[in-house]
Amino acid sequence: MSVKAVLMTGSNMGDREGNLSAALSMLDEAGRVTACSGVYESEPWGEMGDGGGNFMNQAVVLETGLAPEELLDVTQDIERRLGRTVKGEGRGPRVYASRMIDIDILFYGDMVVDTGRLVVPHPLMGAREFVLMPLAEILPGMRHPVTGKTVAEMLSELKDKCRV
Ligand code: AMP
Repeated sequence: MSVKAVLMTGSNMGDREGNLSAALSMLDEAGRVTACSGVYESEPWGEMGDGGGNFMNQAVVLETGLAPEELLDVTQDIERRLGRTVKGEGRGPRVYASRMIDIDILFYGDMVVDTGRLVVPHPLMGAREFVLMPLAEILPGMRHPVTGKTVAEMLSELKDKCRV
């Protein structure tokens, strides 16, 4: 049985668009890519520890037969092979590291997952315009399984907040 997973790829180092397209073709290893958004450029979110540059992001829809953590194993393996070295983990305030490629699992069907290692839907999704904009391009009507809000609703609420 295959599940529709929604991923977000991001890169702010090296050949950023090249990194996104390499990740997109490597995602074939995890299933079948059925849709992807355009590439969006945004300023780094949060505090960058290393003065990194702007991010390029892309939303990707993947039909996959893998279980959620198996999918994470594959996306993390792709990150490693594309040269991601800093995981942005550690004690104290979180510092975001520049990266060749970052792959986040935003949705896994309408399943809610929290294993510690994997939290889906991605918890910060609703707070990040650079996630919601590409997502709204391809899946505006997709509903968050916990809040019941569509991606388009989450995006318009976020824009409302930014204006204040
Ligand atoms: P980041 O540096 O933001 O890519 O975070 C990487 C860490 O987040 C990894 O150790 C993952 O195990 C963990 N993680 C938790 N939930 C997710 C998710 N939905 N997608 C990707 N990584 C996740």
